[in-house]
Amino acid sequence: MEVLYRSTRGNGSTVTASQAILKGLSEDGGLFVPDQIPALDVPVEKLAEMSYQEVAYEVMSRFLTDFTEEELKDCIAHAYDKKFDTEKIAPLTSADGAYFLELFHGATIAFKDMALSILPYLLTTAAKKNQVTNDIVILTATSGDTGKAAMAGFADVPGTKIIVFYPKDGVSPIQEKQMVTQKGDNTYVVAIYGNFDDAQTGVKKIFNDADMKAELEEAGYQFSSANSINIGRLVPQIVYYVYAYASLYKEGKIAADEKINVVVPTGNFGNILAAFYAKNMGLPINKLICASNDNKVLYDFFVTGEYDRNREFILTTSPSMDILISSNLERLIYRIAGNDAVKNKALMESLSADGKYTIDEEMKAQLADFYGNYANEEETAETIRRIYEGCGYVIDTHTSVAASVYRKYVEETGDTTKTVIASTASPYKFTRSVMEAIDSEKYAAMGDFELVDELSAISKVPVPNAIEEIRSAEIRHNTVAEVDEMPGVVKKFLGI
Ligand SMILES: *Cc1c(COP(=O)(O)O)cnc(C)c1O
Repeated sequence: MEVLYRSTRGNGSTVTASQAILKGLSEDGGLFVPDQIPALDVPVEKLAEMSYQEVAYEVMSRFLTDFTEEELKDCIAHAYDKKFDTEKIAPLTSADGAYFLELFHGATIAFKDMALSILPYLLTTAAKKNQVTNDIVILTATSGDTGKAAMAGFADVPGTKIIVFYPKDGVSPIQEKQMVTQKGDNTYVVAIYGNFDDAQTGVKKIFNDADMKAELEEAGYQFSSANSINIGRLVPQIVYYVYAYASLYKEGKIAADEKINVVVPTGNFGNILAAFYAKNMGLPINKLICASNDNKVLYDFFVTGEYDRNREFILTTSPSMDILISSNLERLIYRIAGNDAVKNKALMESLSADGKYTIDEEMKAQLADFYGNYANEEETAETIRRIYEGCGYVIDTHTSVAASVYRKYVEETGDTTKTVIASTASPYKFTRSVMEAIDSEKYAAMGDFELVDELSAISKVPVPNAIEEIRSAEIRHNTVAEVDEMPGVVKKFLGI
């Protein structure tokens, strides 16, 4: 059955999957959502026999219905290959009473690789299908991980350029080094004076700037997005929840149709929304546990029904979750508003005018699938230390936020449902915070790469390629700009 996409703020008109991927964001400022969630009509016994790539095809073909079988299989084969350091692509590790779904085995060692290894192929295929002749300019705001993963995916891809904006003092030292050393003649990196929300709002503004769009068109360019507002990011993220479920079944950890909980360390609400879509496809998921750090705007929302971004933006040791405007929540809001674009639009307008909105009781009642909580900095560090000391397994700060929240959930509810925790980054990406959590006295004085070697020694996990690569890499990007200079910087890079 054909799945079409419509805007969360639109008049109901639809586009195909490939058009939605090309556009990234709808012209009315809304996000594209599927007009139906297709059913996962493959039995778990069958899924359990499949490779990651085969599961990816089963899931993605049901959403991206205007891609041919050959096109989609080709995209999948190019994306999930030797760039990943394990054939399983997304392996599960059992520790601390849960299953950690390791989503960091790709090129840049964060879960963004799961979708951004395939997005360039989906996008260039979509361009061909729609007879697009312009070069595609990917504009991306990053809280640290998306930028690098998107550049790794798009570097030297013909017909594309990629421009990444990151908050100058809002990413880890390793994240920054990964970005500023990025190779590829079509890659551009800009540090901005501001936080992630400033970067994201700046990018959205450029997208919605009609004059700029016309200038670009004239010069033979068009914009698209690699942020999780692009449906081409979201759909590949559904795959690993299905794969994880099938893997647990295959290993005899769960019975067929046994429900599991999923815990997701959340920032822009993309990853957990993918889990929600997986549940709506029919994957037996009980609770979707949304874990926040000190920027706990989502926790407050789940408790009170009021989303309020008017608060201090706190820099934490889990910077990829330092976000006060969770873009993808709009897709959930639209849905619990009964797919009502008018109602959703009013709430989003209130968010941009007053920084807040409140949902009604009827909408709130539909959030029963979700549980929200948060972990502060001390709890996050403590959990890293506790799990390391308990079983020798070292997790990163973001994953630790999730593990901390899972513990609170179990204490509160006594729920014994088997649980998958999305492990969103390798500890090597946040080495300093991780090592200082384990032993602050011993590690505080050491350099970043010394810590990398220490981490390898204590975790017995070899240093990933992504880290070896940047030890001595040359710095290729040094642009720094104010937020209001972002459009000018884009024009300069494009020579218009
Ligand atoms: C992006 C990111 C998150 C947050 O994911 P969202 O889809 O934005 O909610 C969590 N952890 C890590 C390591 C990330 O890179």
